[in-house]
Amino acid sequence: MSSRTLKACRACKALVTKEITRCPVCGGNLFSDEWEGMIILLSDKSELVEALGASKPWRYAINIK
Ligand SMILES: [Zn+2]
Repeated sequence: MSSRTLKACRACKALVTKEITRCPVCGGNLFSDEWEGMIILLSDKSELVEALGASKPWRYAINIK
């Protein structure tokens, strides 16, 4: 999967495919094509969920420019 096929939600950093218009994690509709790094949360019991402020298992960008 190429990172260039994905964009990141500016509100929660969730990564979605380019054709998505509304973030499936937070419902936001502002996205950035400029992001770095990817983290995939497989469980909402992960310590990373709290660290990232993520609300559900998903793939997230680490940095949004
Ligand atoms: Zn979002």
